[in-house]
Amino acid sequence: MFDNSLNLLIKPASSDCNMRCKYCFYRDEARQRKKSSYGVMNSETAENIIKKSLAVSESCNFCFQGGEPTLAGLDFFREFTSCVKKHKKKSQKISYSLQTNGTRINNEWLKFLAAEKFLVGVSIDGPPSEHDRFRLDPECKPSFYRIFSNSRKMLSAGIGANVLTVLTDENALTAGNIYNFFKKTVFYTISIYLVSIRSIGAVFSSAAKITRLH
Ligand code: SF4
Repeated sequence: MFDNSLNLLIKPASSDCNMRCKYCFYRDEARQRKKSSYGVMNSETAENIIKKSLAVSESCNFCFQGGEPTLAGLDFFREFTSCVKKHKKKSQKISYSLQTNGTRINNEWLKFLAAEKFLVGVSIDGPPSEHDRFRLDPECKPSFYRIFSNSRKMLSAGIGANVLTVLTDENALTAGNIYNFFKKTVFYTISIYLVSIRSIGAVFSSAAKITRLH
């Protein structure tokens, strides 16, 4: 039977990002394009996306990603969800998700994300010793404590927060440490993003060690 649901991946701040992760390939990809960033999506484009999506689906998930999607600003997101409410039929089911580096989540964001029931994925690469090897701010400063603290605030505010961890050749051999670190937290799920084929072997080797621990 045809499932009339739609998942949209939206980049409201184009390729813009306020972090300088060492392994980021998107920055380089963006630089190769004719126009590296299209800036913040305007209201007209957002409304077009919403109207067209709602016209062809019974349930719709709007997923925001970047770069860093929160750079579009909270007002963009408020306007977006209001516009969805304006155009949706009563029977249509709507859900939202956000993949963020977690640096910009303040109280206003917490209230909004909780009220609109966003599912939030936060990029954290494990404990500070792992995370801060790669995930640096524009001044090359570590970002772990700010992001981890914001993630905990999201969980306390009742927001569904998951973790996305990037495994590279450099940290794949310590996947066991990363896994054990997250096991002690209360995140709902952990997703692993592999940035190189070579890291797969290392992950399997670490996974075997993890399995032996249990
Ligand atoms: S947060 Fe994501 S988009 Fe931004 S620099 Fe890091 S990997 Fe790249």
